[in-house]
Amino acid sequence: MRSLAESIRTADGLIDALGLPEDLREPARAAEKLFPTFVPRSFLARMRPGDPADPLLRQVLPLGEETAPPPPGYATDAVGDAAARPVPGLLHKYRGRALLILAGACAVHCRYCFRRHYPYGEDPRRLEDWEPAFEYLENDPSIREVLLSGGDPLMLTDDRLRQVVERLECIPHLTRLRVHTRLPIVLPDRVTDELLALLRSTRLTPWVVVHANHANELVGDCAAALRALVQNGTPVLNQAVLLKGVNDDADALCALGERLADLGVQNYYLHQLDRVAGAGHFEVPDDRAAALMAQMHARLPGYAVPRLVREEPGAPGKTPL
Ligand SMILES: *Cc1c(COP(=O)(O)O)cnc(C)c1O
Ligand code: SF4
Repeated sequence: MRSLAESIRTADGLIDALGLPEDLREPARAAEKLFPTFVPRSFLARMRPGDPADPLLRQVLPLGEETAPPPPGYATDAVGDAAARPVPGLLHKYRGRALLILAGACAVHCRYCFRRHYPYGEDPRRLEDWEPAFEYLENDPSIREVLLSGGDPLMLTDDRLRQVVERLECIPHLTRLRVHTRLPIVLPDRVTDELLALLRSTRLTPWVVVHANHANELVGDCAAALRALVQNGTPVLNQAVLLKGVNDDADALCALGERLADLGVQNYYLHQLDRVAGAGHFEVPDDRAAALMAQMHARLPGYAVPRLVREEPGAPGKTPL
């Protein structure tokens, strides 16, 4: 995809494109050695030039804080993925649904990402390498729903995605297909006519879960892509992460809730940060999170208030807070 190839891949490129203060440069260069910078042009275009506090920039700009020793309780496998991987490329943590790690890559590198330390290289790449995961799904009739995740599953081409979906359709006890993707947000032209047709035509009931953290993300080509999905008849949900300096105030969270409601997207989860090494500076304390939830309840329609959750290793689902 051309728009992917044009992405910004260095902190220098990001700082120069937005005219950011020079003192950000050295710490950013150090931090991107641990997790590279990666920002699509469409996402960049929604940032305010010259503003180091821009809520979209904060999600993707490497900071010196990332290179500090992690606070106690922060780990490289924060959510217990390693223990929930019965075969390569598949995570089975919760009853009735299993998650396929379909792609190692993303079209954006979010600095708080819980998968910044994930051993993607160990997961399969060619279609036949997926057979053990497909057979695992075949052999467990309790699984009704498959989540396509990653990385980002829409990093696959539409042809490859169709092949995967067709293989999943052959498993009779599967009824639903869920696509967890950030591409409609950061690289909206990935929502192609072929993708919309695939979601309309599969016998599996599709759900799409996108990931936006701030109302400023949901404008222009991104809003158009979300509308196209909704008009396609595909239910679209959003999950956000509560992030200090990005969306940790009531006005920002309410604006996000309103904007999602206007677009017909369900405000599904607000995640408390996974305690992953290098992301501690994004953490918002639980009591502050609860106060923000109370303000959302007071200001938004009920359906526009998300569920505040945390992912805990060994829990039967996301833990409500
Ligand atoms: C989050 C997650 C799911 C989906 O959980 P829901 O509460 O159904 O959205 C499924 N599998 C894994 C491994 C997950 O991490
Ligand atoms: S899109 Fe999701 S998986 Fe990819 S870097 Fe961002 S948070 Fe991580």
